[in-house]
Amino acid sequence: MLAEPIARLIEEFGKLPGVGPKTAQRLTFHLLRQPADEAHSLAEAIADVREKIVFCSQCFNLGASDPCQFCADPGRDRTRICVVEEPLDILALERTGIYKGLYHVLHGSFSPMEGIMEDDLKIRELVQRVQGGEVDEVILATNATVEGEATANLVRTRLRATGARVTRLAQGLPIGSDLEYADDYTLSRALEGRREY
Ligand SMILES: [Zn+2]
Repeated sequence: MLAEPIARLIEEFGKLPGVGPKTAQRLTFHLLRQPADEAHSLAEAIADVREKIVFCSQCFNLGASDPCQFCADPGRDRTRICVVEEPLDILALERTGIYKGLYHVLHGSFSPMEGIMEDDLKIRELVQRVQGGEVDEVILATNATVEGEATANLVRTRLRATGARVTRLAQGLPIGSDLEYADDYTLSRALEGRREY
């Protein structure tokens, strides 16, 4: 009954995480009521992000270049790798201003209940990186959630054979919290107080 372009957009929105049919409809009709410019600008931003943003082949961060700005920076400490779940976590850690090492983005957390298995995360790539490089310390900065803890545990196990020192952010991050929402002070303290893991 709906015109095909409307039905199609509702269907596309509905594929996004956290967007149910109702929200997909609301978003679609919202766009239809906006000036055409607004919709074009959104469409362009979506196309742009896919065309211009690439995975860093070393740390799997998302950015405008490969290697990313951190991996390409000769001023960063290459003996440390901080392991995070998502690219946004890097921004949170950078805001603290105290970490000067490299990063590794897992792209999710180990959660068999939700169908996210070990192979869905960039763990093998991390192990290869640590084996092949000059890495002394791997800092596990996964979220302070059940999944984040399970992920840290799994990564630690996989890194055992490399002989690298493995540390974990100190307690103090609110339990159940996502790193990207932690305030700078709490995160700085957690980073400075990291412990052997
Ligand atoms: Zn990188």
